[in-house]
Amino acid sequence: MDKRYYQKEAETMPLEKLKALQSEKLVKQVKHVYEHVPYYRDLMDKKGVRPEDIHGIEDLSKLPFLTKNDLRETYPYGMLAVPLKNCVRIQSTSGTTGKRVIAYYTQHDIDLWEDCCARAIVAAGGTDEDVVQVCYGYGLFTGGPGLNGGSHKVGSLTLPMSSGNTERQIQFMMDLKSTILCCTPSYAAYLGESLKEHGIKPEDNFLKAGIFGAEPWTEEMRKDIEKSLGIKAYDIYGLTETTGPGVSFECEEQHGMHINEDHFVAEIINPETGEVLPDGEKGELVFTSLDKEAFPLLRYRTRDICVLSREKCSCGRTFVRMSKPMGRSDDMLIIRGVNVFPSQIETVLLNEGYTPNYKIEVDRVNNTDTLDVFVELPPEKLSDTTEGVSALEKSLAQAITTMLGIRPAVHLVSPKTITRSEGKAVRVTDKRKLHD
Ligand code: ADP
Ligand code: ZN
Repeated sequence: MDKRYYQKEAETMPLEKLKALQSEKLVKQVKHVYEHVPYYRDLMDKKGVRPEDIHGIEDLSKLPFLTKNDLRETYPYGMLAVPLKNCVRIQSTSGTTGKRVIAYYTQHDIDLWEDCCARAIVAAGGTDEDVVQVCYGYGLFTGGPGLNGGSHKVGSLTLPMSSGNTERQIQFMMDLKSTILCCTPSYAAYLGESLKEHGIKPEDNFLKAGIFGAEPWTEEMRKDIEKSLGIKAYDIYGLTETTGPGVSFECEEQHGMHINEDHFVAEIINPETGEVLPDGEKGELVFTSLDKEAFPLLRYRTRDICVLSREKCSCGRTFVRMSKPMGRSDDMLIIRGVNVFPSQIETVLLNEGYTPNYKIEVDRVNNTDTLDVFVELPPEKLSDTTEGVSALEKSLAQAITTMLGIRPAVHLVSPKTITRSEGKAVRVTDKRKLHD
C-alpha cells in the first residue's frame, strides 16, 4: 500500500476518468433526487429541467441552486431522499449564521464521510502508528465525529477528547504522546499558549501535525500555531450540508485544499448573478453531492468565497484545489461602504506581533459606522507607559488603515482578558444589527 494516500486510485485518478465518473454519478443522483425529494422536483419543474436533460457534468448548470434558506424551509425532513428507517445518524450545523440546519446520513453516507476524513489524516502524514487527539466538539457538531471516524479508518489510536478542558487536553497530549492534533485553529492557538504557560516547549511535545478547520484562519495564524506547537499545520474544510469536515483537505504542499471530487462536484459562481465562473476566478463555492443517499444536495450554495485551481500538485493528487475561504459572504462587513473581512484584520495583527486574541466591534454612531478593534497587549509591553501604549495603538491603527482603507479605533487591553475559544471563535459583534 502506498502510504501517501488513503485511497490512491480515487485520489490520483486521471482527469478524463474523473470527469466521466462524475458524469455517470450525476445522472443517477439527479434521478434519485427528482424521484424522492418533492421540494427539489418542484424547483426543477419550475426551471423546466427534467432528469433526462442531464447527460453529464456539462449539464450541471441547468439545475437549480439550493441555499441554506431552502434547508431551513424544509426542516426537518423535507430534503430526505430515502426512508427515514434507512438513516442511522443526524448531525447539525453550528448555527453560526442563524437557525441550525440538520443533515441525515445512511451508514453508506457515514462511510463516505469518514473515508474523506481518513484521506485528510493520511495526507497530513497519519498512519496506524499515530495517536490522534480529536478536540473538535463531539455531538451534533460534525467536527468530532468526522475526524474520529476518519482516524479509526486509518487505524490510528484515537483520543475522543471533544473540546474544552484544556488541562486534561494537555495532560493526555503529553502522557499518551499524541502525534496529530485535530481542532479549530483558534483552539490550537490557545493550546499553544497554554503549553507555554505550563513550561512545555514546542520540542517537548510529541505532535508532528495538526488538522485544523471549521473556521476561517489566515496564513499568519498558521505560522503562529506551527511555531507554538512545533508542528506542520494542515487545513481541512467542510460543512454539515455536504457531510462535515473532509470535503477538502491540504496535502504536504499546503497550497490549497484538494476537493474530494469523486464525491463532490465543485463550481464557483458569481454570487450576485449565479453565473458559473472559470477556474481561477474568485466567487462563491457551490457543491453537488454525487454519492450521498439520505441528504443529497444538488448545487448547494455554501456562501464561502474562494478560488479553484487545476494546477498540477506535486503530491500526485489530481483533485482540484480550493483556496482558503476568506470567510463567508455573510462574514463580510460593509463598514463606511468598504468591504472588510475579519481575516484581513487578523493578518495585520499577527504581522505586527500581536496574538490572535482579538475582538472586532462595529456600530453606528450619528449615522457613521464605527470600527473598534480590541487586542491584547503583548506581555513584554505590559510595563509601557500610557504614552507608550497609545503610541502602539496609533501605529497598529495605521497598519490596519493601510490594509482596509478605513481607520479603526484600536484598544490594547490587558493580557488574558479576551475570552479564548474552544470551538469556532466568535470575534465580531455587529451592533448595527441590534439597532435595525
Ligand atoms: P455553520 O454554517 O453553522 O457554521 P458548519 O459547522 O457546518 O455550520 O460550518 C461550515 C462552515 O464553516 C463552512 O461553510 C465554512 O464557512 C466554515 N469552514 C469550515 N472549514 C473551514 C476552513 N478550513 N476555512 C475556513 N472556513 C471554514
Ligand atoms: Zn497536493
